[in-house]
Amino acid sequence: MLLKMLLGFLCGVQALAEENITDQQGPPPLLLVSFDGFRADYLQRFPMPNLKLLYSQGVLVEQLTNVFTTKTFPNHYSLVTGLYAESHGILASKMYDPISHKHFHAGNDTDPSWWSSTQPLWVTALDSGYKTAAMMWPGSDVAIRNRTATHFFPYNSGVTFQQRLGNVTEWMLGNGKEQGVMFAALYWEEPDQSGHIFGPDNTTAMGKVLKEVDDNVGLLVSELKRTGLWGRINVLITSDHGMAQCSAKRLIRLDDCLHPDNYTLVDLTPVAALIPHTDPETIYNLLNKCHPHMMAYLKKAIPDRLHYRNNQRIQQIILIADEGWTIVQRGDKLPRLGDHGYDNSLPSMHPFLAATGPSFRRDYQISQLQSVDIYPLMCHLLSVPPHPNNGTLTQARCMLAAETCWDVPLMIALVVGILLVLSIITVLFRLLSSRRPSGPRPFQRLQVDYDDDDPLLE
Ligand code: AMP
Ligand code: ZN
Ligand code: ZN
Repeated sequence: MLLKMLLGFLCGVQALAEENITDQQGPPPLLLVSFDGFRADYLQRFPMPNLKLLYSQGVLVEQLTNVFTTKTFPNHYSLVTGLYAESHGILASKMYDPISHKHFHAGNDTDPSWWSSTQPLWVTALDSGYKTAAMMWPGSDVAIRNRTATHFFPYNSGVTFQQRLGNVTEWMLGNGKEQGVMFAALYWEEPDQSGHIFGPDNTTAMGKVLKEVDDNVGLLVSELKRTGLWGRINVLITSDHGMAQCSAKRLIRLDDCLHPDNYTLVDLTPVAALIPHTDPETIYNLLNKCHPHMMAYLKKAIPDRLHYRNNQRIQQIILIADEGWTIVQRGDKLPRLGDHGYDNSLPSMHPFLAATGPSFRRDYQISQLQSVDIYPLMCHLLSVPPHPNNGTLTQARCMLAAETCWDVPLMIALVVGILLVLSIITVLFRLLSSRRPSGPRPFQRLQVDYDDDDPLLE
């Protein structure tokens, strides 16, 4: 009886999903999942069977080039806006705004003014008449430009992955009265937290947490199958940044170079943000020679490639530590064994992207994509007009089942190959034809010499 009721309930859920989703004329709903701090090479270093099975039925982007600073808040906001940090305004974990004189940090992030230079996809998609959901995604509990997603939970690290997932699938299904959500974003704190505590090189500890993350992927797939959403929605699994191994032997002490009375510290490591108390150039000159593993920049000289200059929340001087180096003010204490925030060109800072669902190609891999390209891809999948952004669909388009894509290196190799073969044939042909006159010419017409003086004819 109990089994019958359970089966009835499961079939009911499945039927509801089919009804709600197949009745929709629009595109398939989209679920975006982030496992915080999932460094791209964890996929090669650890087994991850559920995740590998998922992308074998879809697409894997081996490395995403994320945005600078490679921190949680800037990168999660870039994923849902397609903007570099200087354009969306969430530039670091700790910020100071010199106009409003406000301070920002992760535990104090719900003031909308920090987020409202743009709007995330869960807000934009509302304008297309869709319902949306954002589960603990950074910024999701903030009324950005006076709006939140249709469904969200205030951030609470105590809510399990299963609980978050259960709510998300319920929201995606909708019910008889309420339409299901078309876009949902789901956030989970691991493997970032363990990466900070143990360091990414600790194979035992990281193996344990990554098995848990992979179990969560397994949970996700079974929950989508149980509810009938699997195969009907598009799923993107990604992350915000990677993780570098730190060491007490790689400490940079600011007090060794400059007395703290000379500046106010807004953020410390691995990207320090300083407000100089005197002439910025003088302070910069002292910091510039401070340590061989730390670059100092005056705001106006921050390299273009970092897209980290045009914002009032970027301070007059920033310091960037080399990979694995930690900036402290004084002392010998290493705050974390693993950290991120470093230069976004470093492979150790890169996350990955896995995609599966009706819109994606199967068993397809691309080596690299910009994380700002995910936003235009998501807008395309949902048929939502994108807000102005720094991404492009050019490369991401190749992930889609409906697109034919030219593999540029393969095409170049093919053209070069064909030209080479043609050249060899031409050379051989010329060689052969130039050798012909010296050999016998079997079918050449006989030269008859009509000589009137031939004695036989006389
Ligand atoms: P970080 O490693 O400093 O870049 O930040 C990662 C941490 O931010 C995670 O371990 C979470 O505990 C925390 N976090 C993530 N989302 C939120 C949020 N919406 N509000 C507050 N803290 C958050
Ligand atoms: Zn993070
Ligand atoms: Zn972190």
